[in-house]
Amino acid sequence: MDFQLTEEQEQLSETARRYAREQLPEIAEEIERTGVPPNKALLKQYAEMGFLGINIPERFGGLGLGNLEALIVLEQFAQISSAVAFPIFESCVGPVRAIEKFADEKLANEVLPAVCRGEKIVAVAMSEPEAGTALTDLKTRAEFKGERVIISGTKRWCSGGGHADGYVVYCRMSDDPGARGIGAVYVEKDTPGLSFGEQERLMGFRGIPSSDIFLDDVTVPAYQVVVPAGGFRKLMEAFDLERCGNATMALGQASGALEDVVAYVQERKQFGKPIVDFQAVQLKLAEMRMQVDAARLLIYRAASNAEDGLPDILHSSLAKCFANEIARTVTSNAVQLMGAYGYSKEYPAERRVRDAWGWGIAGGTIDIQKVNIASAMVGRRFDQRK
Ligand SMILES: Cc1cc2nc3c(=O)[nH]c(=O)nc-3n(C[C@H](O)[C@H](O)[C@H](O)COP(=O)(O)OP(=O)(O)OC[C@H]3O[C@@H](n4cnc5c(N)ncnc54)[C@H](O)[C@@H]3O)c2cc1C
Repeated sequence: MDFQLTEEQEQLSETARRYAREQLPEIAEEIERTGVPPNKALLKQYAEMGFLGINIPERFGGLGLGNLEALIVLEQFAQISSAVAFPIFESCVGPVRAIEKFADEKLANEVLPAVCRGEKIVAVAMSEPEAGTALTDLKTRAEFKGERVIISGTKRWCSGGGHADGYVVYCRMSDDPGARGIGAVYVEKDTPGLSFGEQERLMGFRGIPSSDIFLDDVTVPAYQVVVPAGGFRKLMEAFDLERCGNATMALGQASGALEDVVAYVQERKQFGKPIVDFQAVQLKLAEMRMQVDAARLLIYRAASNAEDGLPDILHSSLAKCFANEIARTVTSNAVQLMGAYGYSKEYPAERRVRDAWGWGIAGGTIDIQKVNIASAMVGRRFDQRK
Protein backbone atom coordinates (compact mmCIF):
# COMPACT_ATOMS: atom_id res chain seq x y z
CA MET A 1 0.00 0.00 0.00
CA ASP A 2 1.35 3.38 -1.01
CA PHE A 3 -0.30 6.65 -0.03
CA GLN A 4 1.76 8.77 -2.41
CA LEU A 5 0.64 9.78 -5.88
CA THR A 6 3.06 8.70 -8.61
CA GLU A 7 5.31 11.32 -10.20
CA GLU A 8 3.05 11.38 -13.30
CA GLN A 9 -0.07 11.85 -11.16
CA GLU A 10 1.61 14.68 -9.22
CA GLN A 11 2.54 16.36 -12.51
CA LEU A 12 -0.98 16.01 -13.87
CA SER A 13 -2.43 17.43 -10.67
CA GLU A 14 0.01 20.33 -10.78
CA THR A 15 -0.80 21.08 -14.45
CA ALA A 16 -4.54 21.10 -13.69
CA ARG A 17 -4.00 23.19 -10.58
CA ARG A 18 -1.92 25.80 -12.38
CA TYR A 19 -4.37 26.06 -15.28
CA ALA A 20 -7.43 26.22 -12.99
CA ARG A 21 -5.93 28.84 -10.69
CA GLU A 22 -4.50 31.02 -13.45
CA GLN A 23 -7.37 30.86 -15.96
CA LEU A 24 -10.62 30.16 -14.16
CA PRO A 25 -11.35 32.24 -11.03
CA GLU A 26 -12.64 35.27 -12.98
CA ILE A 27 -14.65 33.08 -15.32
CA ALA A 28 -16.14 31.29 -12.31
CA GLU A 29 -17.16 34.62 -10.81
CA GLU A 30 -18.80 35.71 -14.06
CA ILE A 31 -20.66 32.39 -14.36
CA GLU A 32 -21.90 32.79 -10.78
CA ARG A 33 -23.14 36.30 -11.54
CA THR A 34 -24.85 35.51 -14.86
CA GLY A 35 -25.76 31.84 -14.46
CA VAL A 36 -24.46 31.25 -18.00
CA PRO A 37 -22.44 28.00 -18.21
CA PRO A 38 -18.90 27.71 -19.65
CA ASN A 39 -19.00 28.39 -23.40
CA LYS A 40 -17.73 26.16 -26.21
CA ALA A 41 -14.53 28.25 -26.59
CA LEU A 42 -13.58 27.39 -23.00
CA LEU A 43 -14.44 23.75 -23.60
CA LYS A 44 -12.14 23.78 -26.63
CA GLN A 45 -9.38 25.09 -24.40
CA TYR A 46 -10.05 22.29 -21.88
CA ALA A 47 -9.92 19.80 -24.75
CA GLU A 48 -6.62 21.15 -26.05
CA MET A 49 -5.16 20.80 -22.56
CA GLY A 50 -6.40 17.16 -22.50
CA PHE A 51 -8.79 17.70 -19.58
CA LEU A 52 -11.88 16.28 -21.34
CA GLY A 53 -12.04 12.50 -21.40
CA ILE A 54 -8.89 11.97 -19.33
CA ASN A 55 -9.95 8.37 -18.63
CA ILE A 56 -11.61 7.71 -22.01
CA PRO A 57 -9.65 5.28 -24.22
CA GLU A 58 -7.34 6.87 -26.79
CA ARG A 59 -9.25 5.20 -29.65
CA PHE A 60 -12.19 7.49 -28.77
CA GLY A 61 -10.01 10.59 -28.48
CA GLY A 62 -9.39 10.52 -24.72
CA LEU A 63 -6.07 10.46 -22.87
CA GLY A 64 -6.53 6.80 -21.94
CA LEU A 65 -5.50 7.41 -18.31
CA GLY A 66 -7.21 5.92 -15.25
CA ASN A 67 -10.24 7.00 -13.22
CA LEU A 68 -7.97 8.14 -10.39
CA GLU A 69 -6.17 10.55 -12.74
CA ALA A 70 -9.53 11.96 -13.88
CA LEU A 71 -10.65 12.49 -10.28
CA ILE A 72 -7.36 14.15 -9.33
CA VAL A 73 -7.86 16.71 -12.13
CA LEU A 74 -11.56 17.12 -11.31
CA GLU A 75 -10.80 18.14 -7.71
CA GLN A 76 -8.50 20.93 -8.89
CA PHE A 77 -11.26 22.40 -11.06
CA ALA A 78 -13.97 21.83 -8.41
CA GLN A 79 -11.89 23.90 -5.97
CA ILE A 80 -12.50 26.86 -8.28
CA SER A 81 -16.22 26.17 -8.79
CA SER A 82 -18.70 23.42 -9.57
CA ALA A 83 -19.68 25.14 -12.83
CA VAL A 84 -16.17 25.30 -14.31
CA ALA A 85 -15.54 21.69 -13.24
CA PHE A 86 -18.83 20.37 -14.61
CA PRO A 87 -17.66 19.76 -18.23
CA ILE A 88 -14.80 17.63 -16.83
CA PHE A 89 -17.24 15.77 -14.59
CA GLU A 90 -19.55 15.07 -17.56
CA SER A 91 -16.76 13.95 -19.89
CA CYS A 92 -14.90 11.73 -17.41
CA VAL A 93 -17.47 10.21 -15.05
CA GLY A 94 -20.82 11.16 -16.60
CA PRO A 95 -23.17 9.16 -18.81
CA VAL A 96 -20.63 9.04 -21.66
CA ARG A 97 -18.93 6.26 -19.72
CA ALA A 98 -22.09 4.12 -20.04
CA ILE A 99 -21.97 4.80 -23.80
CA GLU A 100 -18.29 3.81 -23.93
CA LYS A 101 -18.78 0.62 -21.91
CA PHE A 102 -22.12 -0.68 -23.16
CA ALA A 103 -23.35 1.02 -26.33
CA ASP A 104 -22.94 0.09 -29.99
CA GLU A 105 -19.46 1.04 -31.29
CA LYS A 106 -21.16 3.25 -33.93
CA LEU A 107 -22.80 5.36 -31.22
CA ALA A 108 -19.61 5.46 -29.15
CA ASN A 109 -17.71 6.68 -32.24
CA GLU A 110 -20.27 9.39 -32.90
CA VAL A 111 -20.38 10.70 -29.34
CA LEU A 112 -17.11 10.14 -27.48
CA PRO A 113 -14.58 11.81 -29.83
CA ALA A 114 -16.84 14.89 -30.06
CA VAL A 115 -17.01 15.01 -26.23
CA CYS A 116 -13.23 14.79 -25.99
CA ARG A 117 -12.87 17.60 -28.57
CA GLY A 118 -15.13 19.83 -26.47
CA GLU A 119 -17.82 19.88 -29.16
CA LYS A 120 -20.48 17.88 -27.36
CA ILE A 121 -21.81 17.84 -23.80
CA VAL A 122 -23.81 14.80 -22.72
CA ALA A 123 -26.18 14.86 -19.73
CA VAL A 124 -28.09 12.15 -17.90
CA ALA A 125 -31.88 12.19 -17.63
CA MET A 126 -32.98 9.66 -15.02
CA SER A 127 -35.21 11.41 -12.48
CA GLU A 128 -38.88 12.10 -13.09
CA PRO A 129 -41.55 14.05 -11.24
CA GLU A 130 -42.56 10.90 -9.32
CA ALA A 131 -39.30 8.95 -9.51
CA GLY A 132 -36.44 10.38 -7.44
CA THR A 133 -34.87 8.02 -4.90
CA ALA A 134 -37.37 5.41 -6.13
CA LEU A 135 -35.80 5.64 -9.58
CA THR A 136 -37.17 2.28 -10.69
CA ASP A 137 -40.68 3.82 -10.60
CA LEU A 138 -39.77 5.81 -13.73
CA LYS A 139 -42.47 5.87 -16.40
CA THR A 140 -40.82 7.26 -19.54
CA ARG A 141 -41.44 4.63 -22.22
CA ALA A 142 -39.34 3.54 -25.18
CA GLU A 143 -41.06 1.33 -27.78
CA PHE A 144 -39.19 -0.52 -30.52
CA LYS A 145 -40.73 -0.21 -34.02
CA GLY A 146 -38.48 -2.08 -36.47
CA GLU A 147 -35.13 -0.31 -36.46
CA ARG A 148 -36.45 2.71 -34.56
CA VAL A 149 -37.18 3.52 -30.94
CA ILE A 150 -39.99 5.90 -29.96
CA ILE A 151 -39.73 7.59 -26.57
CA SER A 152 -42.37 9.47 -24.55
CA GLY A 153 -42.29 10.82 -21.01
CA THR A 154 -41.11 13.61 -18.73
CA LYS A 155 -37.73 13.95 -17.01
CA ARG A 156 -36.90 16.30 -14.12
CA TRP A 157 -33.84 17.97 -12.58
CA CYS A 158 -31.58 17.14 -15.51
CA SER A 159 -28.24 18.95 -14.97
CA GLY A 160 -27.44 20.29 -18.41
CA GLY A 161 -31.15 20.27 -19.36
CA GLY A 162 -31.66 22.52 -22.39
CA HIS A 163 -27.92 23.18 -22.66
CA ALA A 164 -26.33 19.76 -23.28
CA ASP A 165 -26.09 18.48 -26.84
CA GLY A 166 -27.14 14.93 -26.00
CA TYR A 167 -29.00 13.05 -23.26
CA VAL A 168 -28.79 9.51 -21.96
CA VAL A 169 -32.45 8.96 -21.13
CA TYR A 170 -33.44 6.16 -18.74
CA CYS A 171 -36.63 4.54 -20.06
CA ARG A 172 -39.00 1.67 -19.47
CA MET A 173 -38.38 -0.61 -22.45
CA SER A 174 -40.52 -3.63 -21.62
CA ASP A 175 -43.54 -4.49 -19.50
CA ASP A 176 -41.32 -6.10 -16.86
CA PRO A 177 -41.87 -4.27 -13.57
CA GLY A 178 -39.25 -2.30 -11.61
CA ALA A 179 -35.60 -2.37 -12.63
CA ARG A 180 -36.04 -5.31 -15.04
CA GLY A 181 -37.89 -3.21 -17.63
CA ILE A 182 -35.41 -0.32 -17.58
CA GLY A 183 -32.79 0.54 -20.19
CA ALA A 184 -31.38 3.77 -21.64
CA VAL A 185 -31.36 5.54 -25.00
CA TYR A 186 -29.15 8.35 -26.30
CA VAL A 187 -31.10 11.31 -27.73
CA GLU A 188 -29.65 14.39 -29.44
CA LYS A 189 -30.93 17.80 -28.36
CA ASP A 190 -32.40 18.76 -31.74
CA THR A 191 -34.41 15.52 -32.22
CA PRO A 192 -38.04 16.40 -33.11
CA GLY A 193 -40.40 15.91 -30.15
CA LEU A 194 -37.75 16.81 -27.54
CA SER A 195 -38.35 20.05 -25.61
CA PHE A 196 -37.32 21.62 -22.33
CA GLY A 197 -39.02 23.35 -19.40
CA GLU A 198 -37.99 26.66 -17.84
CA GLN A 199 -34.52 26.73 -16.33
CA GLU A 200 -34.77 25.74 -12.63
CA ARG A 201 -33.77 28.28 -10.01
CA LEU A 202 -31.72 26.24 -7.56
CA MET A 203 -30.08 27.13 -4.24
CA GLY A 204 -26.65 26.65 -5.83
CA PHE A 205 -25.23 25.06 -9.00
CA ARG A 206 -25.28 28.44 -10.81
CA GLY A 207 -23.93 27.89 -14.31
CA ILE A 208 -25.06 24.27 -14.35
CA PRO A 209 -28.37 24.61 -16.20
CA SER A 210 -31.20 22.38 -15.00
CA SER A 211 -34.63 21.75 -16.44
CA ASP A 212 -37.47 19.35 -17.13
CA ILE A 213 -37.25 17.45 -20.39
CA PHE A 214 -40.38 16.56 -22.36
CA LEU A 215 -40.23 13.66 -24.80
CA ASP A 216 -43.18 13.48 -27.15
CA ASP A 217 -42.84 10.52 -29.54
CA VAL A 218 -39.12 11.24 -29.92
CA THR A 219 -37.86 8.80 -32.56
CA VAL A 220 -34.24 7.65 -32.81
CA PRO A 221 -32.48 4.76 -34.62
CA ALA A 222 -32.14 1.55 -32.60
CA TYR A 223 -28.33 1.77 -32.47
CA GLN A 224 -28.79 4.73 -30.08
CA VAL A 225 -29.95 2.31 -27.38
CA VAL A 226 -27.21 2.46 -24.74
CA VAL A 227 -28.48 -0.56 -22.82
CA PRO A 228 -31.68 -2.49 -23.54
CA ALA A 229 -34.31 -3.59 -20.99
CA GLY A 230 -32.64 -5.60 -18.25
CA GLY A 231 -29.55 -3.39 -18.38
CA PHE A 232 -30.34 -1.35 -15.27
CA ARG A 233 -27.57 -3.11 -13.35
CA LYS A 234 -25.05 -2.02 -16.01
CA LEU A 235 -26.29 1.57 -15.81
CA MET A 236 -25.80 1.46 -12.05
CA GLU A 237 -22.28 0.04 -12.46
CA ALA A 238 -21.38 3.05 -14.61
CA PHE A 239 -23.12 5.17 -12.02
CA ASP A 240 -20.73 3.91 -9.33
CA LEU A 241 -18.06 5.92 -11.13
CA GLU A 242 -20.33 8.96 -11.38
CA ARG A 243 -20.75 8.62 -7.61
CA CYS A 244 -16.97 8.99 -7.18
CA GLY A 245 -17.14 12.07 -9.43
CA ASN A 246 -19.93 13.52 -7.30
CA ALA A 247 -17.83 12.81 -4.19
CA THR A 248 -14.90 14.62 -5.81
CA MET A 249 -17.03 17.65 -6.68
CA ALA A 250 -18.12 17.78 -3.02
CA LEU A 251 -14.51 17.31 -1.89
CA GLY A 252 -13.42 20.18 -4.15
CA GLN A 253 -15.88 22.52 -2.38
CA ALA A 254 -14.36 21.49 0.96
CA SER A 255 -10.69 21.44 0.00
CA GLY A 256 -11.01 24.75 -1.89
CA ALA A 257 -12.65 26.33 1.16
CA LEU A 258 -10.00 24.94 3.49
CA GLU A 259 -7.17 26.29 1.37
CA ASP A 260 -8.69 29.79 1.33
CA VAL A 261 -9.32 29.68 5.06
CA VAL A 262 -5.78 28.60 5.97
CA ALA A 263 -4.48 31.70 4.17
CA TYR A 264 -7.20 33.96 5.62
CA VAL A 265 -6.71 33.07 9.29
CA GLN A 266 -3.01 33.85 9.02
CA GLU A 267 -3.66 37.28 7.48
CA ARG A 268 -6.73 38.42 9.43
CA LYS A 269 -5.77 40.11 12.72
CA GLN A 270 -8.03 40.69 15.73
CA PHE A 271 -6.91 41.72 19.23
CA GLY A 272 -3.57 42.56 17.65
CA LYS A 273 -2.70 39.09 16.38
CA PRO A 274 -3.58 36.74 13.51
CA ILE A 275 -6.78 34.85 14.36
CA VAL A 276 -4.95 31.54 13.75
CA ASP A 277 -3.26 32.21 17.13
CA PHE A 278 -6.59 31.54 18.87
CA GLN A 279 -6.90 27.92 19.89
CA ALA A 280 -10.58 27.72 18.90
CA VAL A 281 -9.54 28.58 15.34
CA GLN A 282 -6.74 26.01 15.39
CA LEU A 283 -9.14 23.26 16.47
CA LYS A 284 -11.53 24.09 13.64
CA LEU A 285 -8.71 24.05 11.09
CA ALA A 286 -7.55 20.64 12.32
CA GLU A 287 -11.07 19.21 12.16
CA MET A 288 -11.52 20.52 8.63
CA ARG A 289 -8.22 19.03 7.53
CA MET A 290 -9.08 15.61 9.01
CA GLN A 291 -12.40 15.61 7.17
CA VAL A 292 -10.91 16.68 3.83
CA ASP A 293 -8.08 14.13 4.00
CA ALA A 294 -10.41 11.29 4.99
CA ALA A 295 -12.83 12.10 2.16
CA ARG A 296 -10.01 12.22 -0.39
CA LEU A 297 -8.63 8.87 0.81
CA LEU A 298 -12.05 7.22 0.53
CA ILE A 299 -12.39 8.51 -3.04
CA TYR A 300 -8.88 7.39 -3.98
CA ARG A 301 -9.55 3.96 -2.46
CA ALA A 302 -12.75 3.51 -4.46
CA ALA A 303 -10.99 4.50 -7.68
CA SER A 304 -7.74 2.59 -7.03
CA ASN A 305 -9.42 -0.66 -5.98
CA ALA A 306 -11.31 -0.65 -9.27
CA GLU A 307 -8.05 -0.15 -11.17
CA ASP A 308 -9.35 0.91 -14.58
CA GLY A 309 -12.69 -0.80 -14.23
CA LEU A 310 -15.74 0.65 -12.53
CA PRO A 311 -15.68 1.12 -8.73
CA ASP A 312 -17.97 -1.02 -6.58
CA ILE A 313 -21.12 0.18 -4.89
CA LEU A 314 -19.78 -0.13 -1.31
CA HIS A 315 -16.64 1.91 -1.84
CA SER A 316 -18.24 4.51 -4.11
CA SER A 317 -21.16 4.96 -1.68
CA LEU A 318 -18.79 5.30 1.30
CA ALA A 319 -16.81 7.94 -0.59
CA LYS A 320 -19.87 9.88 -1.79
CA CYS A 321 -21.70 9.78 1.51
CA PHE A 322 -18.71 10.94 3.55
CA ALA A 323 -17.57 13.58 1.06
CA ASN A 324 -21.14 14.94 0.78
CA GLU A 325 -21.47 15.22 4.57
CA ILE A 326 -18.08 16.77 5.26
CA ALA A 327 -18.44 19.21 2.35
CA ARG A 328 -21.45 20.78 4.09
CA THR A 329 -19.60 21.00 7.43
CA VAL A 330 -16.23 22.17 6.09
CA THR A 331 -17.68 24.85 3.80
CA SER A 332 -19.92 26.12 6.62
CA ASN A 333 -16.96 26.28 9.00
CA ALA A 334 -15.03 28.23 6.35
CA VAL A 335 -17.83 30.83 6.20
CA GLN A 336 -17.76 31.10 9.99
CA LEU A 337 -13.97 31.47 10.18
CA MET A 338 -14.05 34.22 7.55
CA GLY A 339 -16.68 36.19 9.41
CA ALA A 340 -18.58 38.73 7.29
CA TYR A 341 -16.16 38.14 4.40
CA GLY A 342 -17.27 34.51 4.39
CA TYR A 343 -20.91 35.58 4.19
CA SER A 344 -20.28 38.06 1.37
CA LYS A 345 -21.00 37.16 -2.25
CA GLU A 346 -17.70 38.88 -3.14
CA TYR A 347 -15.91 35.66 -2.09
CA PRO A 348 -16.47 32.02 -3.07
CA ALA A 349 -17.04 30.77 0.51
CA GLU A 350 -20.85 31.12 0.62
CA ARG A 351 -21.24 29.67 -2.90
CA ARG A 352 -19.37 26.57 -1.80
CA VAL A 353 -21.87 25.97 1.02
CA ARG A 354 -24.77 26.19 -1.44
CA ASP A 355 -23.10 23.88 -3.94
CA ALA A 356 -22.10 21.42 -1.23
CA TRP A 357 -25.79 20.96 -0.39
CA GLY A 358 -26.56 20.13 -4.01
CA TRP A 359 -23.93 17.40 -4.29
CA GLY A 360 -25.49 15.61 -1.29
CA ILE A 361 -28.83 15.35 -3.13
CA ALA A 362 -27.70 14.90 -6.76
CA GLY A 363 -26.77 11.37 -7.77
CA GLY A 364 -28.64 9.81 -4.83
CA THR A 365 -29.14 11.40 -1.42
CA ILE A 366 -26.78 10.95 1.52
CA ASP A 367 -29.25 8.69 3.32
CA ILE A 368 -29.72 6.38 0.36
CA GLN A 369 -25.90 5.97 0.19
CA LYS A 370 -26.10 4.80 3.81
CA VAL A 371 -28.73 2.23 2.80
CA ASN A 372 -26.31 1.03 0.05
CA ILE A 373 -23.48 0.79 2.59
CA ALA A 374 -25.48 -1.17 5.16
CA SER A 375 -26.77 -3.41 2.39
CA ALA A 376 -23.22 -4.24 1.23
CA MET A 377 -22.14 -4.79 4.85
CA VAL A 378 -24.74 -7.49 5.50
CA GLY A 379 -24.69 -8.86 1.96
CA ARG A 380 -28.34 -8.41 1.07
CA ARG A 381 -30.59 -5.79 -0.48
CA PHE A 382 -33.22 -4.10 1.66
CA ASP A 383 -36.50 -3.92 -0.22
CA GLN A 384 -37.69 -0.32 0.33
CA ARG A 385 -41.24 -1.21 -0.73
CA LYS A 386 -42.13 -3.96 1.76
C1 LIG B 1 -28.27 19.73 -7.87
C2 LIG B 1 -28.99 18.55 -8.42
C3 LIG B 1 -28.60 18.01 -9.63
C4 LIG B 1 -29.28 16.91 -10.16
N1 LIG B 1 -28.93 16.43 -11.39
C5 LIG B 1 -29.65 15.41 -11.93
C6 LIG B 1 -29.36 14.96 -13.27
O1 LIG B 1 -28.44 15.44 -13.92
N2 LIG B 1 -30.12 13.97 -13.78
C7 LIG B 1 -31.14 13.38 -13.09
O2 LIG B 1 -31.75 12.47 -13.61
N3 LIG B 1 -31.43 13.79 -11.83
C8 LIG B 1 -30.72 14.79 -11.24
N4 LIG B 1 -31.02 15.24 -9.98
C9 LIG B 1 -32.10 14.60 -9.25
C10 LIG B 1 -31.58 13.71 -8.12
O3 LIG B 1 -31.08 12.50 -8.65
C11 LIG B 1 -32.74 13.48 -7.14
O4 LIG B 1 -33.05 14.74 -6.58
C12 LIG B 1 -32.37 12.49 -6.05
O5 LIG B 1 -32.27 11.18 -6.54
C13 LIG B 1 -33.40 12.51 -4.92
O6 LIG B 1 -34.70 12.43 -5.43
P1 LIG B 1 -35.82 13.48 -4.98
O7 LIG B 1 -35.27 14.83 -5.09
O8 LIG B 1 -37.05 13.15 -5.73
O9 LIG B 1 -36.03 13.21 -3.42
P2 LIG B 1 -36.95 12.08 -2.78
O10 LIG B 1 -36.66 10.76 -3.41
O11 LIG B 1 -38.35 12.54 -2.75
O12 LIG B 1 -36.36 12.05 -1.30
C14 LIG B 1 -36.68 13.05 -0.33
C15 LIG B 1 -36.03 12.66 1.00
O13 LIG B 1 -36.51 11.37 1.40
C16 LIG B 1 -35.41 10.50 1.65
N5 LIG B 1 -35.75 9.15 1.21
C17 LIG B 1 -36.45 8.77 0.10
N6 LIG B 1 -36.51 7.43 0.03
C18 LIG B 1 -35.80 6.95 1.09
C19 LIG B 1 -35.47 5.64 1.55
N7 LIG B 1 -35.88 4.55 0.92
N8 LIG B 1 -34.72 5.52 2.67
C20 LIG B 1 -34.30 6.64 3.34
N9 LIG B 1 -34.57 7.91 2.95
C21 LIG B 1 -35.31 8.04 1.84
C22 LIG B 1 -34.25 11.05 0.80
O14 LIG B 1 -33.00 10.68 1.36
C23 LIG B 1 -34.51 12.55 0.89
O15 LIG B 1 -33.90 13.07 2.04
C24 LIG B 1 -30.35 16.34 -9.43
C25 LIG B 1 -30.71 16.87 -8.20
C26 LIG B 1 -30.05 17.96 -7.69
C27 LIG B 1 -30.46 18.54 -6.37
